[in-house]
Amino acid sequence: MIWLLLAAADMQVKIDTTFLPTLRVELTLAEPAQRLCTAIIGGGRGIKGLKAMPDDPDCFQPASAYHVDLKALDGHDPDFATLMGKAWMWNDQAVILRPEPLPDRFDVELDINGPAFGVWPKKAGLYVANAAALDGGSYWGLGAWQPMSPLKVTGREVQLFKSTGREFKASDTVLRDWVERSLKAVAAFLGELPAARMAVFLAPVRLSSEGGVFGSIIRRHWATALLLFGANATAEAFAGDWMAVHELFHSVMPHIKGRPAWFVEGFCTYYQDVLRARAGLQTAAAMWDDLHDAIVRFCQPDGRSLDEESKSMRKTHHYQKVYWSGACLALSLDVTIRTRTQNAQSLDTVMQQAWKDSQATPLTESDMVERLDAAAGLQITEKMLLATQAIDFAPLYSSLGLVIKSQTHVELSPHNSVRDAIMSP
Ligand SMILES: [Zn+2]
Repeated sequence: MIWLLLAAADMQVKIDTTFLPTLRVELTLAEPAQRLCTAIIGGGRGIKGLKAMPDDPDCFQPASAYHVDLKALDGHDPDFATLMGKAWMWNDQAVILRPEPLPDRFDVELDINGPAFGVWPKKAGLYVANAAALDGGSYWGLGAWQPMSPLKVTGREVQLFKSTGREFKASDTVLRDWVERSLKAVAAFLGELPAARMAVFLAPVRLSSEGGVFGSIIRRHWATALLLFGANATAEAFAGDWMAVHELFHSVMPHIKGRPAWFVEGFCTYYQDVLRARAGLQTAAAMWDDLHDAIVRFCQPDGRSLDEESKSMRKTHHYQKVYWSGACLALSLDVTIRTRTQNAQSLDTVMQQAWKDSQATPLTESDMVERLDAAAGLQITEKMLLATQAIDFAPLYSSLGLVIKSQTHVELSPHNSVRDAIMSP
């Protein structure tokens, strides 16, 4: 029976969920490993029954079985594990140990008992993944989840799962339509969905009437997203939502080392507005009012540069400042690039190229800055990132044909080629 052993995967994983919130994991490796590690920093705190390496608390001496305590990982962050009602969400990067270094070619088979829901394809009853998928990570649902009928967007199937662990008002139709129109608005940016396999988990938040409340996405290989919505939200609340478009747009953004917030969150915030207007989910007039309102409220540095604010955002909690100042930078770049090239190039084209170029290896922050400034024909990114004094946005308004009427309202000139091109690229 030797041929059978040779045909087996490089790693066979067996997860027993009988004793939730503790998982029992068995690993069978075709080749012996030097050390076994979680793929996410901090994942090691959930691993029980193994000896940690003295130099790295996320790496362990090789063994064939261990336990994962999901409760020890639960910090209300799905990037490790979190319990919502009776529905667990966990990231395989924190649960499945793998050899380090991980070989380029590495096939994994996963056998999991109990109601588990993930994005990995199934072959002969087993979930299968390769090194890239294992490295990129994905969310899994365990417990009170229910598969909904999948969506088809740009020819690609997207799996949908809803939580059944808590009561909520929204019907399946309302939830599906919400995700579908948000995915379509985002897919229009690249012409297709970015990942061959995608799964979206939908879970309600108690006492909230908002459509989109919060979201999170893992998207380095396959894309899995968690979208939280208000348990009391009605169809109208979902109609005005921007959160799902924001979160899902992260899946088509270039990969940048260190994930600088001014770019990752700022540019996503710009596109959450633009893509909804392009898709008809809000009017162009509403979008320009929103961007104008952001410029007035958030985009002037108060003695601290956007670069500084971006680096300290998680400590200072100046999220709106960084998100919207980044969006103002994105808008300024888009207008400058379009004006210089008479709409032949745009922020879209720079982002799309960077997305392609960052698939194998993430770009550095300075590479991204260089690409943006090269397209703009001047060092606008660096200048705006480092500015500590008031920025003059008047030229931006005139380039776009926007006339300020109040703190929250701009009037649109009858025709403006840059403004029109942003709306219909
Ligand atoms: Zn975001």
